[in-house]
Amino acid sequence: MIESRCGIVCSDCEYKEKMNCGGCISIENPFWGTCDVKACCEKKNLDNCGMCGDFPCDLLNKFSYDEQEGDDGMRVEQCKKWCDLA
Ligand code: SF4
Ligand code: SF4
Repeated sequence: MIESRCGIVCSDCEYKEKMNCGGCISIENPFWGTCDVKACCEKKNLDNCGMCGDFPCDLLNKFSYDEQEGDDGMRVEQCKKWCDLA
């Protein structure tokens, strides 16, 4: 089962408990405001970015490889895994 639109594994996220977050796919907007990746993916009615014809787009790549907030492409790889399982 997928846990997010962008490939983040929400069950491993320290903020899930700290911020009482229901996880990406169960919430309307994240606690910090809005997420462009989530908004884009849901607008296209996709389960996750891995299912997108534009995957991995500039927005997702920028997000995943961001020096401060990124994870060196791990979430992009996770999207591929979820896609292979679907
Ligand atoms: S960053 Fe956006 S798409 Fe990724 S898990 Fe958080 S809300 Fe979902
Ligand atoms: S891969 Fe990019 S264009 Fe496709 S749904 Fe995700 S954010 Fe949107």
